[in-house]
Amino acid sequence: MILVGMIIFALIVYLIYSEDSNKCTCEMENARVKCYNCGHLIKDDFIYCPKCKVELKEKCKGCGKFINITWRNCPYCNAPNV
Ligand SMILES: [Zn+2]
Ligand SMILES: [Zn+2]
Repeated sequence: MILVGMIIFALIVYLIYSEDSNKCTCEMENARVKCYNCGHLIKDDFIYCPKCKVELKEKCKGCGKFINITWRNCPYCNAPNV
């Protein structure tokens, strides 16, 4: 009976631990990009910074995909970003 109790305890500890680590990596991945203007953490797909309202992405004139405004050319079709 003691062994069964230990296995259940280990399982609970494992479940709590794995849930916590999932939460952490999820939030870190969503907020690893910084605004080039104010340094505020932003999500990868944000078009405008929620803090300083600066434009982060604009539509490529060649293919219409949203690309980072600081890039000099489009990584999808190589059109110059002006
Ligand atoms: Zn900003
Ligand atoms: Zn393009």
